[in-house]
Amino acid sequence: MNKRDICSYDYEELKEEMARIGEPPFRSRQIYEWLHVKLADDFQDMTNLSKKLREKLDGEYEIARVQMTERQISKTDPTEKFLFELWDGNMIESVLMKYPYGNSVCISSQAGCRMGCRFCASTIGGLNRNLTPSEMLRQIYQIQRLTGERVSNVVVMGTGEPLDNYDNFVRFIRMVSDEHGLHISQRSITASTCGIVPNIHRLASEGLQITLALSLHGATQEKRRQLMPVADKYHLEEVLEACDAYFRKTGRRVTFEYSLVAGVNDQPEDIRELTAILKERNCHMNLIPVNPVKERNYKKPNSKNALVFKNKLEKNGINVTIRRERGSDIDGACGQLRRRYAAANVRRNR
Ligand code: SAH
Repeated sequence: MNKRDICSYDYEELKEEMARIGEPPFRSRQIYEWLHVKLADDFQDMTNLSKKLREKLDGEYEIARVQMTERQISKTDPTEKFLFELWDGNMIESVLMKYPYGNSVCISSQAGCRMGCRFCASTIGGLNRNLTPSEMLRQIYQIQRLTGERVSNVVVMGTGEPLDNYDNFVRFIRMVSDEHGLHISQRSITASTCGIVPNIHRLASEGLQITLALSLHGATQEKRRQLMPVADKYHLEEVLEACDAYFRKTGRRVTFEYSLVAGVNDQPEDIRELTAILKERNCHMNLIPVNPVKERNYKKPNSKNALVFKNKLEKNGINVTIRRERGSDIDGACGQLRRRYAAANVRRNR
């Protein structure tokens, strides 16, 4: 981006920024509303500003480009996947899921990912770059504009590791829940992490009310290491301690996600070990039968085995659900989003 990224300023910062270029606070309020409530794509749409001011803004600032290049609608679920192109040719994916209780959008937090989880398509090819707060916000804004649907829930579970892009991610959370913007309740936001321990502790102290989801996938250090390279860096014990701290400090129950892989982590010993670590914890567990990724050979257990696994955990006192698969026919389910570039015209980061 060559100009300043105007959508990444929060409400107070925009006021200061506008004061710097000689605009009074009420103008800043109008501009913030255009950007974050009316979801303007272009300064020229800001019709209650003078032409001169619109041109001045256009000369100094940029509304982060998050431009839809493809929209796929699932035939099996009320789910849609959007492919967005960013200013530098990076492409990111977001998913809209409609539920009886409201609409949920799954956003990406990075272009690519460097965490390397073995069963996940998003990490193939590694990390290209972090997304800015504006690029995270505008995935939701664009989906709302394009569909006319109000978004009430946000899950940060698309491509990328949010706690590997910590400052931008936290700013995004504050801005999307801000009363001057979309004002989505923090309790309706879930962010999923593979377990970057120091940043879970930091997040616990931010005074936020979002739900933390921890990608567990193995009930022992050894099992987890087989599937998730990040486990080499942070031992399972430390990860669980960080989750306990998150619950203690925020009062928000942590969700543990567990991608069920046939023959790898769906055995009787896994049930025993999961019970041992989760029984005394006030938490929720989400089982996700692993979704196919063409470069990988992992298979999901058949639905009967998955149900047996769930029922046994439940009998052992674990609060557990099987996550209903959404949008797998459009590669929109967990772990199926992937890194891409604009086919032509790939501009490199400047
Ligand atoms: N980086 C974050 C968010 C990523 S994806 C994290 O690791 O939590 C959201 C969830 O989908 C994670 O629990 C992730 O491990 C899981 N997932 C990834 N690939 C999957 C696949 N092929 N099938 C099912 N779940 C998968």
